[in-house]
Amino acid sequence: MSIKVVITPRSFAATSPLPLKVLEERGYTIVRNPLDRPLNADELLELVRDADALIVGIDKVTRQVIENAPRLKVISKYGVGVDNIDLEAAAEKGITVTNTPEVNTEAVADLAVGLMLAAARQIPQADASMRQGQWKKFMGMALFGKTVGILGTGRIGRAVARRLRGFNTKLLLYDVRPDLSFAAEVHGEYVELARVLREADYVSVHLPLLPETRNLIREQELKLMKPNAVLINTSRGGIVEEKALVRALRERWIRAAALDVFAEEPPRDRDLLNLESAVFTPHIGAYTEEAVLLMGLEAAENVISVLEGKRPKNVVSCSKAS
Ligand code: NAD
Repeated sequence: MSIKVVITPRSFAATSPLPLKVLEERGYTIVRNPLDRPLNADELLELVRDADALIVGIDKVTRQVIENAPRLKVISKYGVGVDNIDLEAAAEKGITVTNTPEVNTEAVADLAVGLMLAAARQIPQADASMRQGQWKKFMGMALFGKTVGILGTGRIGRAVARRLRGFNTKLLLYDVRPDLSFAAEVHGEYVELARVLREADYVSVHLPLLPETRNLIREQELKLMKPNAVLINTSRGGIVEEKALVRALRERWIRAAALDVFAEEPPRDRDLLNLESAVFTPHIGAYTEEAVLLMGLEAAENVISVLEGKRPKNVVSCSKAS
């Protein structure tokens, strides 16, 4: 029986055929997501029932999906965050879970800084108004010289902080694992979350979605922020409570927000989507030609390594027995 590899992300091999080629060269049977959106658990379950490997984006890989895929040996996340994968269930079944950190770091950091500027200068709103025949002025707020709070100083948070040195910003850092040599490098200071929220003009979220970080930014945290503050989230939707953010923007507790990620994707909450002081992008943090190619290659290589009995480059978790 040939080896079956299911691939769900629509951008996989979208900018170059190379990631597909390395899998096809091995003689694997490739099955692509037939829909133009992430799959729900039932749809995914049907596709992976007899699959040996799964390359997955943000589609939910639930316990039920895993338990109905007896041949599955590897779940290769095309991206970083594995909050959509039941890691416990995968480990129980001896399935290796891998991801592709590093390769999309710079792409997400570029977008985070872009969103800071877009939200503070209202670039999308200005563009939309000109297309409607208007010549209306939009009063913005500077990024240069301001105080920026970075929540989560892992790969992406650091890449954002390093870019912001060029904007002469004061950096307030927050992480459960502070890295003082990094703080010295960027002339930043690790402080408590409440202090970041109280003092920063911009707060950029770069935390993983975990039980401890779910709804970390709720009403009481938003109320701590400056009335002129801008909140940017390019990590995961569940970290900023959307209902609270809607209130905060409507009642002007904060100035603006920019979101690349949502509690539910695509988001359907009109209260959120109709906010004039918010800027939205459809989870495109890692969507650059460069990152998509590298993520595809790394996700494919991780699959090949597991199927050939070698240790993959980026293991998130493997069998409970190992
Ligand atoms: P990372 O693991 O390198 O960094 C995460 C940081 O958060 C670490 O420094 C860790 O110590 C810190 N942290 C973990 N739990 C914490 C807690 N409870 N309180 C405070 N700090 C905590 O991850 P990364 O590569 O920088 O990516 C960050 C997140 O960005 C990912 O988990 C993913 O969800 C998201 N992401 C989004 C996109 C996108 O397309 N928008 C693309 C890639 C990654």
